[in-house]
Amino acid sequence: MSPEGKRTRGRFAPTPSGRLHLGNALTALLAWLQIRALGGEMILRIEDLDRQRSKPELAGLALSELRWLGLDWDEGPDIGGPHAPYEQSRRGGLYERTLDELRRQGRLYPCYCSRADLQAAAQAPHGLDSEGPAYPGTCRQLSADERESRAQRKTPSLRFAMDETRLYRFEDGIAGRLEYAGGSGGDFVVMRADGIVAYQLAVVADDIEMGITDVLRGWDLLDSTPRQLALYEALGAAPPRFAHSPLLLGADGARLSKRHGSVSLTELREAHGVRPERLAGYLAWLAGLIDRPGELAPHELIASFDLASVRRRAVSLPEDWLTVLTTG
Ligand code: GLU
Repeated sequence: MSPEGKRTRGRFAPTPSGRLHLGNALTALLAWLQIRALGGEMILRIEDLDRQRSKPELAGLALSELRWLGLDWDEGPDIGGPHAPYEQSRRGGLYERTLDELRRQGRLYPCYCSRADLQAAAQAPHGLDSEGPAYPGTCRQLSADERESRAQRKTPSLRFAMDETRLYRFEDGIAGRLEYAGGSGGDFVVMRADGIVAYQLAVVADDIEMGITDVLRGWDLLDSTPRQLALYEALGAAPPRFAHSPLLLGADGARLSKRHGSVSLTELREAHGVRPERLAGYLAWLAGLIDRPGELAPHELIASFDLASVRRRAVSLPEDWLTVLTTG
């Protein structure tokens, strides 16, 4: 139970546009341990809003690989549950209702800026790192006439108007105490011009509807948190506790990618015969949970799990990582 008396609920939310890699596995392991250590419920949600980039076979693969690693969940697309469906592509009604509520409050406005306009804005000082340059607010003050004439030429996206006077403070379970000015990232898109609901909107609507109390996800989404806090506030919902797991880097210090070899779970498992216990032990060691990269099943880590012992900094894979995972 959380301090507010709610049941503790966390989630994995893979986007099936690529295969799970070591970094995703590390985040999933930590999210699972956090919830299991608190005796809570784990939800699996597939974030397949962008249908062109998402592939159903990759969603199926993500589920089987998480299970292979030794993780499980209490609700999800394969086992159902009271908040079904668990695929974002099938939850459009909820997103429409959420957009309607924000529209009713006057927090949304149409944005007619083209890619070129936004690129020009990119010359301006940077906004939130993971979110690109701050939107300068070009379309926020358009008159009704201006909107009408622009609408003849372009289908708009919809932006959420941030309150620049607000300061968003939160205590991240791993990153520590953080503070963002409401205006630092600019107004953000909640529905793209092609009609696809944006990540920020969908994830908050889902986390509220699914009763999520604890969000543990990758460090790359840390900068999304102030935007999401603004949405929780506008929707009158209590935000969850957030924790962002350390970024996993290649031995060269660059962000993990195909360039670094067999970093997908499929390759490790199929091409290199890595055993799940070896991988779980290695990830736990990388995260700072154990002193040596031993072999263990994730459930063996539940009793001693402490979020405070997770490393706060990005972790670089040692040069010999694949050898350690495959020998012995
Ligand atoms: N779907 C996102 C991802 O795969 C995770 C979103 C979230 O945890 O808020 O990175």
